Amino acid sequence: MATKKIEIVVPPREPHFVGDGFRVHNYIPSAYRLDMKRMDPFIMLDYNSKFYFPPTEKPRGVGVHPHRGFETVTIAYQGKVEHHDSSGGGGVIGEGDVQWMTAASGVLHKEFHEENFSKEGGDFQMVQLWVNLPAKDKMSKPKYQGIANAQIAKVQLPDNGGEIEVIAGQYKDTQGSASTFTPLHLQNARLNKGGKASFSLPATFNTALLVIEGSVKVNGAETVATNHFVLFENEGTDFDIEALENAVVLILSGEPINEPIVAQGPFVMNTRAEITQAIHDYNTGKFGYLED
Ligand code: MN
Repeated sequence: MATKKIEIVVPPREPHFVGDGFRVHNYIPSAYRLDMKRMDPFIMLDYNSKFYFPPTEKPRGVGVHPHRGFETVTIAYQGKVEHHDSSGGGGVIGEGDVQWMTAASGVLHKEFHEENFSKEGGDFQMVQLWVNLPAKDKMSKPKYQGIANAQIAKVQLPDNGGEIEVIAGQYKDTQGSASTFTPLHLQNARLNKGGKASFSLPATFNTALLVIEGSVKVNGAETVATNHFVLFENEGTDFDIEALENAVVLILSGEPINEPIVAQGPFVMNTRAEITQAIHDYNTGKFGYLED
């Protein structure tokens, strides 16, 4: 099969704070070449690279805010985050867990460091990825998939190379744990030094990886360091990564939805009129109520 080549390696941008609890590097959509259209269906990727938060009595985070028109996927590598929403739902995710929230027609929620984590302080490391929804599903009912690490399908790599956590989609014959609205693959490769993993993904899918820990060699040629993001060409299907030291790599690949995208803050719709409607619905209480 044809090799999928690297289109560009994107270094981390300067971090910024989201609320007071998330110190993130933004990749999608603000980094060079990683705009929403190019990365479709992935419309936002923030990465809180490993960062120590000192103990505090008052949990850090982001207060009540809305979302409409897409899904938010939170992948926890270190630390714990607690979430509450306007439908009465909530939960805590910690190391290795994933929360897949379908905001769709709209939720209000808040995201804070978990109480005990806040009191003790510690290293915090998380990805938040926004996955767009096709027009026909943007106003569907909100839902959650809280996926504990133990529930995530895992594939052992040969020669004690490590394992692939299949969050969504497939890795070889193993089906991922999350259900999605459009075809996409989301995986964590947890590699031991010298471990190798090969991937075969449709040429037409927008495909990328982010090096979370360690460093890897891609296609036996290019060394990619921690916090660097690799965008692949939309040609060829197969690539491989080899861990130059113990490494964690997030792999994302999705079929483009190919519909117009109009985004404003926490609302991502297809038309300007739908954005105006979302703002109106939010201001008139249609997203429900959630205490600060
Ligand atoms: Mn949010």
